[in-house]
Amino acid sequence: MSTLVIAEIRQSELRASSYNTIAAAKAKGGDFDILLLGKGSAAGADALKEFGAGTVYYSEADAVAEYTAESYAKTVAALVGEKGYTAVMMGATTTGKDMIPRLGGLLGAGMVSDVIGFDGANYLRPMFAGNAIATVEVNTPVAVMTVRETAFDAAAPSGGVSAVAEATAVGDDRAKFIEYRLTESSRPDLGAASIIVSAGRGVKDADGVKQVEALADLLGAAVGASRAVVDEGLLPNDLQVGQTGKIVAPDLYIACGISGAIQHVAGMKDSKVIVAINKDEEAPIFEVADYGLVADFAKAIPEFMEKVKAIK
Ligand SMILES: Cc1cc2nc3c(=O)[nH]c(=O)nc-3n(C[C@H](O)[C@H](O)[C@H](O)COP(=O)(O)OP(=O)(O)OC[C@H]3O[C@@H](n4cnc5c(N)ncnc54)[C@H](O)[C@@H]3O)c2cc1C
Repeated sequence: MSTLVIAEIRQSELRASSYNTIAAAKAKGGDFDILLLGKGSAAGADALKEFGAGTVYYSEADAVAEYTAESYAKTVAALVGEKGYTAVMMGATTTGKDMIPRLGGLLGAGMVSDVIGFDGANYLRPMFAGNAIATVEVNTPVAVMTVRETAFDAAAPSGGVSAVAEATAVGDDRAKFIEYRLTESSRPDLGAASIIVSAGRGVKDADGVKQVEALADLLGAAVGASRAVVDEGLLPNDLQVGQTGKIVAPDLYIACGISGAIQHVAGMKDSKVIVAINKDEEAPIFEVADYGLVADFAKAIPEFMEKVKAIK
């Protein structure tokens, strides 16, 4: 039983979610190796060599210098063929969700999405926006999976030093990387932020969103949104939190004017502390909130900001 963990590099930087995926491999049990692909993966391999892996593989070869699902899946499949892993896991990030199904196709392997735990040889995953947990058995020699990062606390160095080796890159020119166009933002990344302030339909308009953004900036927080706000074009859809948006688990999640529909709650309920501001005391968000404020956000946010400024 051995697992290959795909750690993730973005823009030459090791993504923090890689540490959660390593924790998932440890929770699963058995030996594991790590693979990093792309520019910056040699430095990434160096950073991960004290986390208990047998070998940390990397490749910065031209064929995999930039991500395409085709070349990455072929390269991973080649390493799996060579080393005989019985499981391959990657974070349930946009890249993980893009690449792992293709890998499953190449290997003829059963796939599990959004793994949150292990039950012997079986896998646990949420269904129906987290209202049911499925136990999944995989009957192929290799199981491929995405793991939900928020379900596993980031791994810490565990002593010992792994071997570091170059992997053989396999190219595929059916798709070609052209360029990155990143949204510039001075705020932290939604997926990695320790504080998130989220806007719901209750903030009503662009002025309401500005108030939420001001609070976020004061707290050094990321801005999130419910789908209603995204659908109304008030915030971009990459800020949507929930079942069909991002799954987040910050230290502090402040929901402003969000009702608490199950599809939204599915994306933030694992946050360590949840604060809800809603003028309807019956709003379901209060059922998951640690602290609830029945108030108009337009009055509560400025008062809250004054208090924070006074403490600062
Ligand atoms: C398949 C599917 C997937 C979905 N995926 C997602 C998803 O990923 N993320 C997501 O968020 N939703 C998702 N939804 C939509 C979800 O069901 C809800 O419609 C949505 O979350 C509602 O957003 P909201 O809470 O902002 O708006 P509403 O439900 O309209 O709630 C607005 C809240 O604001 C409060 N309010 C109003 N005025 C004020 C004020 N002045 N001050 C304070 N509070 C005020 C109201 O009391 C109310 O509780 C999905 C739906 C489906 C069917």
